[in-house]
Amino acid sequence: MWTAPDPGFETGIPPVEPGGLGPAIDWAQVEQSIDALAAEVHALYDAAPFGSHILDAQGTYLEINARELSWLGYRREEIVGKKKLSDFLSAASQIVLQKYLAAWSQRSVLVDLELELVRRDGSRMPVGLNSAGFADGSGQSAARRGVMFDLRDHQQQKIDVLVANAAFDSVSGMCITDSEHVIQHVNQAFTDLTGYSAQEVIGQTPRLLSSGHHDATFYQHLWQTVHEQGRWQGEIWNKRKDGSFIIEWLSITAVFDAAGKVSNYIGSFLDITGVKTSEAELFRLAYYDPLTQLPNRRLLLDRLTQALAGARRNGQSGAVLFVDLDHFKTINDTCGHAAGDVVLVETARRLRTAVRAADSVARLGGDEFVVLLENLHPEAGAALAEAERVADKILLALGRAYLLGAQEFHCGASIGIELFVEGTCAADLIQHADLAMYHAKAGGRRQVRVFDAAMQVQLIGRTALENDLRHALERQQFELYFQPQVDLQGQIVAAEALLRWRHPERGLVAPAEFIALAEDTALIVSIGLWVLQAACAQLKAREAMPQARHLQLAVNVSARQYRQDDFLSTMRQVLRCSAIDPGKLVLEVTESMMLDVPDAIGKMTALKALGVRFSMDDFGTGYSSLASLTLLPLSELKIDQSFVRKLGTNPHDAIIVRATIALGQSLGLEVIAEGVETQQQRDMLAHKGCQRYQGYFFSKPVPVAEFDALLQPLASC
Ligand code: C2E
Ligand code: MG
Ligand code: MG
Repeated sequence: MWTAPDPGFETGIPPVEPGGLGPAIDWAQVEQSIDALAAEVHALYDAAPFGSHILDAQGTYLEINARELSWLGYRREEIVGKKKLSDFLSAASQIVLQKYLAAWSQRSVLVDLELELVRRDGSRMPVGLNSAGFADGSGQSAARRGVMFDLRDHQQQKIDVLVANAAFDSVSGMCITDSEHVIQHVNQAFTDLTGYSAQEVIGQTPRLLSSGHHDATFYQHLWQTVHEQGRWQGEIWNKRKDGSFIIEWLSITAVFDAAGKVSNYIGSFLDITGVKTSEAELFRLAYYDPLTQLPNRRLLLDRLTQALAGARRNGQSGAVLFVDLDHFKTINDTCGHAAGDVVLVETARRLRTAVRAADSVARLGGDEFVVLLENLHPEAGAALAEAERVADKILLALGRAYLLGAQEFHCGASIGIELFVEGTCAADLIQHADLAMYHAKAGGRRQVRVFDAAMQVQLIGRTALENDLRHALERQQFELYFQPQVDLQGQIVAAEALLRWRHPERGLVAPAEFIALAEDTALIVSIGLWVLQAACAQLKAREAMPQARHLQLAVNVSARQYRQDDFLSTMRQVLRCSAIDPGKLVLEVTESMMLDVPDAIGKMTALKALGVRFSMDDFGTGYSSLASLTLLPLSELKIDQSFVRKLGTNPHDAIIVRATIALGQSLGLEVIAEGVETQQQRDMLAHKGCQRYQGYFFSKPVPVAEFDALLQPLASC
């Protein structure tokens, strides 16, 4: 704070002893000198860089210097004898002043006030006031002399201090040390965050908090940065008083004195322990599969990329094994998702134990896993032999029964292998192994296949096909073929709508070549809708044709299409728009789409209520349980053609066919056999009680336009 000047300074004249001895005095001269001196003092007084005034006992101005006048914005004659100091103070300052008035009236005291002047133009100005009373002969305080200081600059400093103080008491823990790192001061947040009180740490060094998490190099680098750049910021793991870790975002700033030497260090930190924990959690979620805790595709790609770079450097090889469970979908569909999860977790465990610790096992999603083998033999043949050995081991491990509650379930797996190839990126390697895995599945499952160039050609073909498929709808390349379904008398009672893709270069493409692809890419949803709309339009058109009016039309529905949340509303809309008799529409579903899925049964029941009929396609190839079959509002069972084909040759198939027919009859369902190619098959089926048939023996699927021609003669025979 500022110090007050001596109140007597403005006279500066030594007292003169009247009547004293000495040389003769020219009193006129003295008076003149005194006047000159007084004028000089007044001039100085006016020009002083501070305000000055004398107030009477009531606080009214008796005198005021030019500086103070200029601050107030008044002329002397407007103030002296007329105004009080309080007239120029803000309301708050008037209260402050009031508090001191009592003291003023009693005795001479020096006060050190901070006040706010309200100037003529209304602007405010902070001032400091030092004031002293000088007593009259009675000892009463008669007047006060005051000196006023411009605090406008001081004010900024004061704000800085306030801000600094506020910062010191903020949520950031703060710690100030001297240049020797001895703690001088800590704030409350420091105590809250570390558990140490100020008394416990003052005099100590921040090493007290050291957690042992960082090595000497870390601290060396930290202090080197502070010395070179004056500041270091970063994450640091410290230890609280209770021994727990605190992860801090710490900033250390060096404070330099006038000579440029460090006087203090200020450390301020935020507790980011919580943030870090959730960051770790986020990392886990981003890179690991939550179910099996295995790395996910993203982390696998990252590791594979590194492994490829490593292999290039050290000249060794590696391999990607794409592992896919063989009957996982069936477990999920028939035993529920919880059982499916148990199988996946167990698969992850078996995979991990089947490979070396250095190898990576990742889950890509669903029942797809990838094993990454590193450091295989540099020579391709030997590397492949190593990879195949691991693959066989995995086949064995996954071939063992899975225990689901009291039940055993056999799953098995198919594996595709691709060795590291120079110049091939991680994503491509995985895709190659995936493709090889598909070949393993197609080859009869529980097999291992190694990727080869022919597969690559196929892959390119598949990619091209996928591209074309994306445009097939808008380019109107789809067509419906109808295949008749006949009764015992050979009358066409219904037809199955079968999709064909008229590809500009490939010609007519059968569903076997693109339905799976459409499923994988979700294109099946829009394609399936087109089929439904086209089929309903055909049904509608036949309402006006006497020979076709009775016809029912079966439409295949894909699993993905059926599982759509809006399948029910889409179906309702299609029925409404086409205005057909819903009883003429048969939806062909498959066992895996239906069983133990309440949602599927719900949709089916709702559509059945509208009159739509359901046929269980490919019956006998899935995993239907008799119990669940009775729950489904079916109208028809369709014996799969694989049983029909071997009717005359395989006695087991004959038994299955007979059992299916008996089952259908007992449930009150129609039974139709598909894939009937010969008279003998037709007769055997008829003999076993089957009354509807579909197959090449009657007709191949034909374009819709040809179908009606077919209808006439057949219907009339
Ligand atoms: P699916 O529903 O079991 O259809 C019967 C398949 O057997 C048809 O093959 C049909 O042409 C064929 N087939 C009929 N009679 C005989 C026969 O006597 N001998 C032989 N060997 N085959 C016969 P396609 O048209 O190639 O269809 C194959 C599968 O593609 C269908 O099997 C069905 O699952 C699917 N599919 C066809 N159209 C559609 C569709 O519009 N949507 C969906 N999601 N799938 C469709
Ligand atoms: Mg079908
Ligand atoms: Mg079928």
